[in-house]
Amino acid sequence: MNNGAFAASRPLLEIKHVSVDYRADNGTVHALTDVSLTLERGRILGLAGESGSGKSTLGYAITRLLKPPAEIVAGEVLYSPRVSRQMGTSPANATAPGAPVDILRLTQKQLRALRWKELAIVFQSAMNALNPVIDVGAQITDVLRTHQPGMSRQQQRDRAVELLRMVGISPDRLHSYPHELSGGMRQRAIIAIALALSPEVIIMDEPTTALDVVVQREILMQIIALRKELAFSVIFITHDLSLLLELADTVAIMYAGRVVELATRDELKSRPRHPYSYGMLNSFPTIYGERRHMTGIPGSPPDLRAIPAGCAFHPRCPMAFAACKSVLPLLRPAAGPTDVQQVACHLYDPRYSSAEPPTAAELAARYEAAYALSLGERGAP
Ligand code: SF4
Repeated sequence: MNNGAFAASRPLLEIKHVSVDYRADNGTVHALTDVSLTLERGRILGLAGESGSGKSTLGYAITRLLKPPAEIVAGEVLYSPRVSRQMGTSPANATAPGAPVDILRLTQKQLRALRWKELAIVFQSAMNALNPVIDVGAQITDVLRTHQPGMSRQQQRDRAVELLRMVGISPDRLHSYPHELSGGMRQRAIIAIALALSPEVIIMDEPTTALDVVVQREILMQIIALRKELAFSVIFITHDLSLLLELADTVAIMYAGRVVELATRDELKSRPRHPYSYGMLNSFPTIYGERRHMTGIPGSPPDLRAIPAGCAFHPRCPMAFAACKSVLPLLRPAAGPTDVQQVACHLYDPRYSSAEPPTAAELAARYEAAYALSLGERGAP
């Protein structure tokens, strides 16, 4: 194997059975329950779901950025860097070359070595993530100074210019303060900082949410181009499933702290299995194809201190039946065209349903009926 050889044929990140609770006086919030996912090298894994689905909590758990009262109560996050990185800069030096490290069990010192160099995060709000009283160039060189103390000032400056160019910002903005940049430029600057030490994994938490659609698209295209050029892997967190259908290789749909469907982008586009995935896909308009009536998903996500028994989605699901109220559905292979697609829904489990799984037309009709009912309940004219 050459210098870029992989530690093994293992995935880059293996998230195994991770659970996170927030302890509060009025009850424990089960923000994440038994989540297992895999990030392959050079790939983009999308996490989608409504607010409170656990997608951001998972991103922060992976990077160990959760603060009390959040507590990771179970699981492991195995990171397998390339051998070339492991022998040089990885915090995993204490382990045998090629062995994965469990990020959730690293010491603070090992964690500091891991962050930025191996694992970087792009936060949602660029204005809050950047220091308003320090110019952008200094914020980039600050990361370089801290993590690569051997670099000269000139090398730091050259690298800062290179990073700004990479994300499409003119080098003459090196000494601009965040308030002098547009929202899109600020978000690009944050991405430049994340790229400073060429990490293997970048976690992007709603990186384009606050931007208009044109800028959003430009930044997505930039992320795709950079990923191809630099070969990093991405966990992309968003409530906007339409973004993931353009960007991600694999998408995990989350609801009430669990993964309810996992599929490739194409599988999700052409045949979402879980009624919640279908509802999310039907919550945004398409600019291609036939015009269709959008219904959204009636109701609200559950209170995570009192998650409904059985399938947490059953109070909102237009397909719910008796077993859904008492038996928790677990992820099972969905017999799709690849072996990736899995779904946690009794409709696909012959132990609970002998009927054929619903077609898209049936799901649409059920959502229409549920939508009409919710309008009636709200007293719509
Ligand atoms: Fe709906 Fe039941 Fe499937 Fe849950 S298990 S998504 S309630 S059909």
